[in-house]
Order: sequence, then C-alpha cells, then structure tokens
Amino acid sequence: MGRYTKEDIIRRVAEEDIQFIRMQFTDIFGQLKNVAITASQIRRAVNNEIMLDGSSIEGFVRIEESDQYLWPDLDTFAVLPWRPQYGKVARLICEVHDPDGAPFVGDPRGVLKRELLRAERMGYTFNVGPELEFFLFQTDENGRPTTQTSDEASYFDLGPLDHGESTRREICLALEEMGFEIESSHHELAVGQHEIDLKYTDALQAADHIMTFKLAVKTLAQKNGLHATFMPKPVCGAAGSGMHINMSLFQNGRNVFYDEAAPSQLSPLAHQFIAGLLAHVQGFCALTNPLVNSYKRLVPGYEAPCYLAWSSSNRSALIRIPAPRGQGTRVELRSPDPACNPYLAFAACLAAGLDGMERGLTPPPEVPENLNAMTDEARAAHGIQRLPDSLGSAIAALTADQLVLDALGSHISAQYIAGKQREWEEYRNQVSQWELDKYLVTF
Ligand code: GLU
Ligand code: MG
Repeated sequence: MGRYTKEDIIRRVAEEDIQFIRMQFTDIFGQLKNVAITASQIRRAVNNEIMLDGSSIEGFVRIEESDQYLWPDLDTFAVLPWRPQYGKVARLICEVHDPDGAPFVGDPRGVLKRELLRAERMGYTFNVGPELEFFLFQTDENGRPTTQTSDEASYFDLGPLDHGESTRREICLALEEMGFEIESSHHELAVGQHEIDLKYTDALQAADHIMTFKLAVKTLAQKNGLHATFMPKPVCGAAGSGMHINMSLFQNGRNVFYDEAAPSQLSPLAHQFIAGLLAHVQGFCALTNPLVNSYKRLVPGYEAPCYLAWSSSNRSALIRIPAPRGQGTRVELRSPDPACNPYLAFAACLAAGLDGMERGLTPPPEVPENLNAMTDEARAAHGIQRLPDSLGSAIAALTADQLVLDALGSHISAQYIAGKQREWEEYRNQVSQWELDKYLVTF
C-alpha cells in the first residue's frame, strides 16, 4: 500500500494551489526528462493517461512505435520548493509503459525495479546511501559557466572562506522540505568542491532522490549566479567528484551484513556481496563511470580508486567498510561518479552482489596498505587488477559481462553500448589543446 491514493493527489493539487505538475522520468544516459501538465489534467495523469513520444528520446524507441504512457509513482508526489509559492509546481516520478500496459523495456527505473524484485524474492531489501560531490563555479558576464571559483576553502572548512556555503545551505533546506534526510554536508577537498551525503533508503527511492538532488543543486546554484556541475573531473590537477555508494541488504528489518560474532563483525553474506562486486566492477564500470571524462578522475593521487581491492579503512581501496556496525554496517563502493544513471548503476551493483551470494564467492584478503604506493610488481603479486582506464576499455568490459548485460536487458544494453561507443569514437577523433601544446612545435 502506497502513501498516497489518486484522490489524495487530486485533492492536494486543488487545495495547495498547484498549477503545474511535472511528470518526470530518466532516459538511459541519466538525463532527467519531463512532460509538464496543468492542474486541469491531474485526473488523467493519475490514471496513467499522459502520453509521451518516445522517438524523440535518445535510446528509447523507433519512430514507428513511439507512443508510450507515463505511469506516475504516486508516492513520489512532491512540491518543488524552488518554484513560485503561488501557483506552485509539483512533480511525480513516472514509469514508462507501452500502450498495452507492459513496462517499457527501455525505462531505467524499470530495470532497477526488476532487480529489486529479484532481491525481494530472495528475501532482501537493498538499501543505498549516496555521497554526492560536485563543484560550484562562477559564470561569466554572459551567464555562461566557467571553471573559476572565488572560493579558497578546502576540506571541512567553514565560511567566510567557503563562498558556496550559503548555496549549500539552501540546497539542504530545500531538499529537507521535500522529505530528504541529509546526513551531512561539507566543503570538499578542491576549491569550489562540495559534498552532501544522503541518509540511506531503499535503492529505488535513493535513485529517485539522486535525480531530484541534481536538479535542486543545479537550480539553486543558478539562482545564486553560480554553475553547479557533476562532471567527474572538471579541473586538471584537482580532486574529481565521486558518488560513493554505501550499500546494505536488510532481511525482516535486520542488516544481514552485520554479524556480531564474525571477524570484523562482517557476515559471510557481506563477504560474498563484496566478492560479487569485485567480480563485476570492471563490467559495470561503463555504467557507474559513464563519460570519457570519468576516467580522468580514476587516477592515483586524489582519493579516487584505480585498483580492485577492498579494505576496512584504507581510502585508496575500491571498496571500503566504514566504521559503523549493527544496522549501519555497509559496503562503500568508491568508484561511481555522479554523472552515472543511478537506476542502472544500482541495478548493476545489486546484480553483482547477489551473484556473489548465489555463487558463494569468497573475496580476496583485504589490502590495508595504500594501493597507489605499491609497485606494479607488488600489486601483480597480490593479483590486484585495475579498473578500466578509458571509456573505450570500459565498453569492452561491459560487452564481455553477461550478468550485467542481462540485468540491463537486451534493449538498454544495445542502446547504451551504441551510444557510449559513439561518444568514445567522437572523443578519439579530437585533436586536443594538450596535443597541440606538446607536439606542434617539437615535431
Ligand atoms: N573526491 C574523491 C573521489 O573522487 C573522494 C574524496 C572522499 O573520500 O570523500 O572519489
Ligand atoms: Mg567526499
């Protein structure tokens, strides 16, 4: 039973002076889309009658089969606090369905729901707590984004050094108004860089939250004359932005990664889940790290992972086990970045973890030392592999990972790989400023 009925929504729209409703969904490359309707259409909307032309959305459908319907998830109804307070704007997050009522195979939210159902059949709820990093940059005199910042702060600094502080505060307050629980927010390492951590919730809500979060951050930054970016590595030589994801499985309200009696109080299931992630992390990297630019973040020296290892504390490891135990026991995957489509990224992580559990995999021993300081020989002696070093190699790894392809389904995997391959080819054909500076005179 959901929180809201159709009648609840219709009544709220009338009583709360809501003029517009945005029917939102996400395309396969992680872009938030919407069809806006006026309040007069709300009855049609809650009855799944709002249509969408899928042919104009990249990776959706061919022109001859383009009619689709938006089925709102009524529990996602929320007023957008940054829109006018008279004649308000609300949103509903929707699933995309075919005219015959079947869920559309190209809907990323549907992919995550399918994987969550698989976990549910095994008796588990999948919880995710994301940590989102982003930059706030100045705009130029024409309002266009730059990579400049007047911010001089660093990790955990306070104002007045931190010029983004008031924007971050507005973001947190707006999100709390929408029902988010913000665990913490702080200035990150690089100048202009910030982090906001969301309290864990079930993975579907967490993915919905991420999409709303990005919209809120971009909108409120713009209101303050700044440009917010979730691009993973906007500044060469400075830290990039990650989206670490903290994952746990619950069964009957109990965290099954916790075992009071086990070494480090981590259950055998937690170990198997970690082993599953390690077995597929190269395969799903093109999902968690979707851009050409993503691979410029995954280099040594900036607390972003490069090597496949896990550790209870060491931040150079791909998988870290944060200190809390009991219900807070979790596995933190540090490779994802905030440009990813969270629905597809979470579906892939869950599929990988469950695969580890189903096959009873054992992870390699944890590596407590700094992986970046080890020599290639030492890493090879421990059998430590690395993450793909480019979008091109990540696409190749995805193509070779049947479990991840199956989790996506044939429609999304084909569209995703084709789209990313085009992006990679386009990049490979560029002649960059770096090449001109390096070679034009010397050769
Ligand atoms: N910015 C780092 C990254 O790219 C993470 C820093 C941290 O540990 O929070 O993943
Ligand atoms: Mg951080």
